[in-house]
Amino acid sequence: MAIKNNILSQEEYEHNFSDIHPPFERLSSALVEANRCLFCYDAPCTNACPTSIDVPQFIKQIVSRNEKGSAKTIFDSNIFGAGCSRVCPVEKLCEGACVFNLLDEPPIPIAKLQRYSTEKAIAGKWDLYLRKKSIGKKVAIVGAGPAGLSCAHGLSLEGIDVTIFEKNPRGGGLMTYGVAAYKVTPEFCQDEIDWITSIGGIEIKYNSMLGRDFTLESLKTNYDAIFLAIGVGVTRELDIPGEELEGVVDAINFIHGIRSMKYSEIQIGDKVAVIGMGMTAIDAATQSKRLGAKEVNLIYRRTEKEKPCTDAELELARLDGCNIIWLASPAEIIGENGKVTGIKCNKLSLVEPDSSGRAAPKLTGETFTLSADMIIKATGQLPFSDLLEIEKIEHSKGKINTFDNQKTNLSGVFAGGDCVNGGEEVVNAVQDGKIGALSILKYLCC
Ligand code: SF4
Repeated sequence: MAIKNNILSQEEYEHNFSDIHPPFERLSSALVEANRCLFCYDAPCTNACPTSIDVPQFIKQIVSRNEKGSAKTIFDSNIFGAGCSRVCPVEKLCEGACVFNLLDEPPIPIAKLQRYSTEKAIAGKWDLYLRKKSIGKKVAIVGAGPAGLSCAHGLSLEGIDVTIFEKNPRGGGLMTYGVAAYKVTPEFCQDEIDWITSIGGIEIKYNSMLGRDFTLESLKTNYDAIFLAIGVGVTRELDIPGEELEGVVDAINFIHGIRSMKYSEIQIGDKVAVIGMGMTAIDAATQSKRLGAKEVNLIYRRTEKEKPCTDAELELARLDGCNIIWLASPAEIIGENGKVTGIKCNKLSLVEPDSSGRAAPKLTGETFTLSADMIIKATGQLPFSDLLEIEKIEHSKGKINTFDNQKTNLSGVFAGGDCVNGGEEVVNAVQDGKIGALSILKYLCC
């Protein structure tokens, strides 16, 4: 067993990482699906969308060939409407709520239709918004992910001058760095950011990090308000022997590598074990397979019923040939000559629900060992608790406490996205940014 790169041919990499949900190839295909929509009153699909996109309205606009109107309807609710059409777990949101599910018929492909309109807008650089003249107020936003950019767009439209401080060399947050490459490419993310910022009044300062390059105090002296969209930090440690061995990587760094290097440059094991069952774990497992790993085991401490990923994501992992191991937790990473050779796991059973409301896992006393040369940790990310303490921002276990429309305990400081909710969907972050912008406008009396 060996961790190596350049396992597949260029053609194989391209095939494995091609768009998993290809767009409509022809207008007629989009129209056939759009015409199935019943344009429901009090539409459940809209109610299921965290940004409340008026789904029947934008679909009706596609039917009447008003594509600009359709894109505007989507963007008015969700400025990341193009990205969300590719990464949203629609089976548990809009499409999961579509009335056709009750009729045992396929739901309207809302995401694909949304992609149809929004990608036309971005590709065509359509001028859908006109920014008001600058009113002389300045807002600093920390983080150029979906929450930060959504807030920036809402503020800039109203004539606020926005500066975004982003710690990475590119914007987009987890959209750019943390999502499987077969869902969105970094190039697509950049096009979306360019389109969002094309209204003007938004400057992004890259490689600029709170706590390292500036403080909240310094921002307060130069800006009228601040919106924190700093996301969450590094992957949680497993805290088991052998974690320091060569071949143990964290899922966010692994996915970050896939999105910033050539596929042929990514090191991948023959036998990969992924710890966790969230969306990041699935993205890491499926991409390991697509990079050429012979065997991928996903290890999760509860059962399928309690899994955090969606059914569709789990199905994708299965279709990609990943093995799923339920009711197991890592006990020790085994190695030889400083390198991973396997992982010993505890077998678990479930007892009464824990404080999270889910059944709690319990050791059975039995163990098993898997052969592995690469272990990917995808057990959730730690919040920036220390940073929040230093900056005197009230939080609960690292999640920023907000009240009354994204306000924090500090006057003029607002927050939204993963740093508040601990890590939900992109669409939730977009909504936080939207509400944050409205709240800041009210605070600035605009
Ligand atoms: Fe159309 Fe389904 Fe939404 Fe009804 S629930 S408006 S059929 S997409």
